[in-house]
Amino acid sequence: MSNEKLRREALIYHAKPQPGKIKIVPTKPYSTQRDLALAYSPGVAEPCLEIAKDKENVYKYTSKGNLVAIISNGTAVLGLGNIGPEASKPVMEGKGLLFKIFADIDGIDIEIDTEDVDKFVETVKMIAPTFGGINLEDIKAPEAFEIERRLKEELDIPVMHDDQHGTAIISAAALLNALEISNKKMEDVRIVISGAGAAAVSCTKLYKAFGAKAENIVMLDSKGVIRKDADNLSSSKIEFATDRKIDTLDEAMVDADVFVGLSIANVVTPSMLLSMAENPIVFAMANPDPEIAYDLAVATRKDIIMATGRSDHPNQVNNVLGFPFIFRGALDVRATAINEPMKMAAVKALADLTRQPVPEQVNIAYGETRLTFGKDYIIPKPFDQRLIYEIPPAVAKAAMDSGVAKMPIEDWDKYREELML
Ligand code: NAP
Ligand code: MG
Repeated sequence: MSNEKLRREALIYHAKPQPGKIKIVPTKPYSTQRDLALAYSPGVAEPCLEIAKDKENVYKYTSKGNLVAIISNGTAVLGLGNIGPEASKPVMEGKGLLFKIFADIDGIDIEIDTEDVDKFVETVKMIAPTFGGINLEDIKAPEAFEIERRLKEELDIPVMHDDQHGTAIISAAALLNALEISNKKMEDVRIVISGAGAAAVSCTKLYKAFGAKAENIVMLDSKGVIRKDADNLSSSKIEFATDRKIDTLDEAMVDADVFVGLSIANVVTPSMLLSMAENPIVFAMANPDPEIAYDLAVATRKDIIMATGRSDHPNQVNNVLGFPFIFRGALDVRATAINEPMKMAAVKALADLTRQPVPEQVNIAYGETRLTFGKDYIIPKPFDQRLIYEIPPAVAKAAMDSGVAKMPIEDWDKYREELML
């Protein structure tokens, strides 16, 4: 589709037949006088009193347990930058749509008009009683780190900044699979990370949790390789600084096994790819244009395993594989947090699912004939119906095992059946 055609279609899609992408519908009967007496005064006082006696009853009598707030201040929207809270609303509504269609979660977008960390945190804390979970979205770094850290500390519902952890979870699953295919081990591989922002930092942390060695990692920001002997390193970058006396991406790429791009378009050249080790793994995830174009990369190295953030090539690292299912699992056990074990369980479940035979419906949905685990299929496709009954149970189980589940699941078969409905 041409850019102009896409632009026009996107604007009509959002404007017609009614503006926006999400609306609220009642879930109870409302056609008789009696219905209304139950829905509102006087009947509504009864659940109020039950909740006043015991706050946990809010999950029994209101929509809280299935309601996630998608909260942004519009300071880092897609790749569009700081475009403000109103302009971020289409993205947040879109996320509400995805929560609904993939995991039957009601996601309500909330756009907050402040760039002040204290005010943002205070506002979210004050509205938190309404929600079962908080998805922070498109908030710029480094503020996003502090906002998430403080809200996780102060709230007893799951809080996740998806731009950080969503990408980390999906790309970690893809990396585990790519390593398996190329017969390499996380503990041994040399990894180059281009970018040191919100996504790069959280991805690298998660790869380390899966065994990547600090001494094998080289990270670059806009000024080049982040070195231990540099002055004025920010606290989020110090952790990833290298002892090696190199400065450029050219130097870093020599003999590297893995390249992870979370920076900007076209910083990787064919000659850099040629200098990498055998069977190189290249995740060029800058959006909309990757660090090296897909076609150029696969033409340069026949032995490459390549992923991007784009839907028009194989191996799309797409956050939609994560957040709906992670929140589903967290909400279903009334988890008080989304912690590291839960994220790692999501990674493993996604990686495992990719290795299973692909159902025919998935091939049909993507116009493929035989998707099978391999170089061009290292991560599931979003329209894979198995995601909803494979990922949430894994996340829920990890919540229980790590002691953050207030309402543990007892009958797993029944739970999976409910997820399939
Ligand atoms: P961010 O917080 O603004 O970070 C951007 C980082 O890129 C900064 O650390 C910046 O360096 C660095 N950078 C800029 N130019 C560079 C260069 N020439 N070489 C190396 N690093 C350079 O943004 P973010 O949220 O982390 O996102 C980064 C990119 O990843 C975006 O393109 C985004 O679309 C993409 N992304 C993709 C996915 C996905 O595919 N699923 C998910 C998340 C993000 P300084 O620190 O020096 O400024
Ligand atoms: Mg985002």
